[in-house]
Amino acid sequence: MDKPKLNLVIDTVNSRPWKGIVWHHSASPDTSASDWPGIVHYHTSYRIDFEIVTQEEFERRLANNDGKVFQKPWRDVGYNGGTEWVGYKVVFNWGRPLSEIGAHSGVKSCSNQFNEFYLGFCAIGDFDKEPPKPEHWDFNLQLTRAFMDAFQIPASHVIGHREVFDRLGVPRQKSCPGNSWDMDLFRGEL
Ligand SMILES: [Zn+2]
Repeated sequence: MDKPKLNLVIDTVNSRPWKGIVWHHSASPDTSASDWPGIVHYHTSYRIDFEIVTQEEFERRLANNDGKVFQKPWRDVGYNGGTEWVGYKVVFNWGRPLSEIGAHSGVKSCSNQFNEFYLGFCAIGDFDKEPPKPEHWDFNLQLTRAFMDAFQIPASHVIGHREVFDRLGVPRQKSCPGNSWDMDLFRGEL
């Protein structure tokens, strides 16, 4: 069977020196959107406790200390790209330029190295209960391989968001990219 071909032009000249890749899924509090445009909108909006609010509400509630997590609009989506089903096929959407530090793997009071040196990709879906469908899984593998080739990234530097916490030596705060997405299996197939 022919696999979907990924026609990607990766500009390595105007890129940061990427050393790895972090995979995410969209079903987490920090990305409560069901498609790529929704995630872009979410990251570039005012947010309180992971809900989009108007600027007026944001400023009023911030002044009243009414909320826990206050986030101003980011200048761009936090991920470098994402994969999702559109109709009957999986597609790749570019996100934050490769020349910029990402906003996807920050951990409070820890090194920001996984935003600085690891690309962030988001697969749209909830993979806590079941893994990505075979076509989506294969597409994510192809995408990963393309970036590994472009930046000489070893498979050991392809991790899931939850493994960021392991590598920083702190307890896991997320299951991302989903408990059913087996990262050892994924790495083994790269
Ligand atoms: Zn994540």
